[in-house]
Amino acid sequence: MIRIAIDGPSGAGKSTLAKSLAARLGIIYVDTGALYRTVGYYVKTKGVDPKDSGAVEALLPEIKIELKYEAGMQYVYLNGENLGEKIRQPDISMYASAVSAIPAVRRFLLETQKSVARENSVVMDGRDIGTVIIPDADIKIFLTASDEVRARRRYNELLAKGMDVKYEDVLADMKERDARDRGRDIAPATPAPDAIILDNSDCTNEESVEDVISIIKEKLGDIII
Ligand code: C5P
Repeated sequence: MIRIAIDGPSGAGKSTLAKSLAARLGIIYVDTGALYRTVGYYVKTKGVDPKDSGAVEALLPEIKIELKYEAGMQYVYLNGENLGEKIRQPDISMYASAVSAIPAVRRFLLETQKSVARENSVVMDGRDIGTVIIPDADIKIFLTASDEVRARRRYNELLAKGMDVKYEDVLADMKERDARDRGRDIAPATPAPDAIILDNSDCTNEESVEDVISIIKEKLGDIII
């Protein structure tokens, strides 16, 4: 079993890196942000304030989340429905960030994440993978980049999906979300003491994949193609 934890702020390129690594290693890529997004999506459809921890906690028993993996892709089901791109809207990012600071929500999603990592070789990305979900991961990477670079990437991604967004709004939302993720009391988005910190502001995706592959080879030998 191989377990690789990739943490870091939004827009650092975690999912691109994690997907490429998983494909190269022939193991599954687990996107844990999708779980918080799914809870955020449900909270929004119910018209509940995502910062109202009591009201959010009261909704949790109504939520059943399943993760399915097919041909290297992760699909998240909420009460039997595949939500697809619905959880990728910018307002859902804010809902996800707000609900993720609620301890009951993190407890609710803990076992789903731990069990995937127990039963499979994984590349898992999130904010607390190296600190909470897989504290004994084989490799822990904390991927980061400057605020402007991350906001520009996120902005381009949203534009490519045909969304009508402004760069300034994307930057402001991202800063608010990151500050909340870093500052929360429970599972704050900080590097594990044994994580390798990589700043990819000045590299392409391909370069950061190659950097991490060198790190993996150095630590684990030639398990990678
Ligand atoms: O990674 P992504 O942007 O999809 O995550 C959405 C939100 O979910 C983040 O802003 C963060 O607040 C929360 N999250 C978290 N812990 C994780 C993954 C995501 O708190 N492991």
